[in-house]
Amino acid sequence: MKKDIILTGDRPTGHLHLGHYVGSLKNRVKLQNEGNYDKMYVFIADCQALTDNYDNPDKVRENLREVVLDYLAVGLDPKKVIIFVQSMIPELAEYTFYFMNLVTVSRLMRNPTVKQEMIQKGMEESIPSGFLNYPVSQAADITLFNTTLVPAGIDQEPMIEQTNEIVRKFNSLYGETLNECRILLPDNSICARLPGLDGNAKMSKSLGNCIYLSDSEEELKKKVMSMYTDPNHIKVEDPGCIEGNTVFTYLDAFCKDEHFPKYLSEYQNLNELKSHYQRGGLGDVKIKKFLFNILNEELKPIRERREELSKNMEYIDKVLIEGTEKAREVAKENMKKFKKALRIDYFD
Ligand code: ATP
Ligand code: MG
Repeated sequence: MKKDIILTGDRPTGHLHLGHYVGSLKNRVKLQNEGNYDKMYVFIADCQALTDNYDNPDKVRENLREVVLDYLAVGLDPKKVIIFVQSMIPELAEYTFYFMNLVTVSRLMRNPTVKQEMIQKGMEESIPSGFLNYPVSQAADITLFNTTLVPAGIDQEPMIEQTNEIVRKFNSLYGETLNECRILLPDNSICARLPGLDGNAKMSKSLGNCIYLSDSEEELKKKVMSMYTDPNHIKVEDPGCIEGNTVFTYLDAFCKDEHFPKYLSEYQNLNELKSHYQRGGLGDVKIKKFLFNILNEELKPIRERREELSKNMEYIDKVLIEGTEKAREVAKENMKKFKKALRIDYFD
């Protein structure tokens, strides 16, 4: 069986958060370390970030290197993974341009992730065509590198569907050229769309409801302590609700049996803790402290590595420059086949 070509990216609209971590980064590091792939690319989607931040280019610029710091801090290794900058691969813009012929505006308007983001960003009345078109530019990101596997959160499912539609249309019109891809979601469905601290459906940089991988221990504690629980659980004795209680949602995502002897030895497992909360007699502070300890255990080494890496930003630049050079070589090569299929390879 042919080995996968893996590709995924992140928008440099802020530092990376816990949603990125459980939704995609963990799977990327796992795939990288298993080593059973043909090529693996991770890129900073600065062009896509500009589609809704065109009025604030400095924000995008400032976050470019921060995202790379997050990558290396969680364990992505530039020796095994090609890390590149989207805007430095002009072939991506070319692919996007020709793909736009294969997609209707109404099809783009039906994309559920875009629909939701339009509401969130107040773009329902008037949407910049660049933003509406970003799923097409994602199809270019994926197909230019012959990607077969995309480790991502569930919000990316409509993008993969859209990409495969474009691939099928392209191939049927111009001959078998591009390949379809599949998404790799996290095993735990909560991790495929981790809710925000405020209980909002998705932790997202744009919604300001995030725990960042770069948050200090104090910031992490403050955020966990302010988390949304059950508004009717006022006194410790009151029975509490675990559905829609963000602390329990996060425990479902992060807690393992081995955490109990270390941090909350009165209980054996999460089910026992949940039943006690539901019966009444278990306070929010206690469960929040437990969650804080679990998260801190996971985030502390990441935070420390990030701090260390940030002392040498020249190295970060080197990673980006070298990664982009490698990606560009592949892009140039694959572009030839693409142009040939489109009959625009006039003088080759
Ligand atoms: P923005 O608000 O700028 O769109 P974001 O927080 O949504 O930022 P992206 O850069 O759009 O982050 O997402 C990058 C990757 O991380 C995608 O694969 C996406 O599915 C995944 N991801 C982002 N947020 C979450 C989340 N809350 N849960 C699971 N996966 C997530
Ligand atoms: Mg997003």
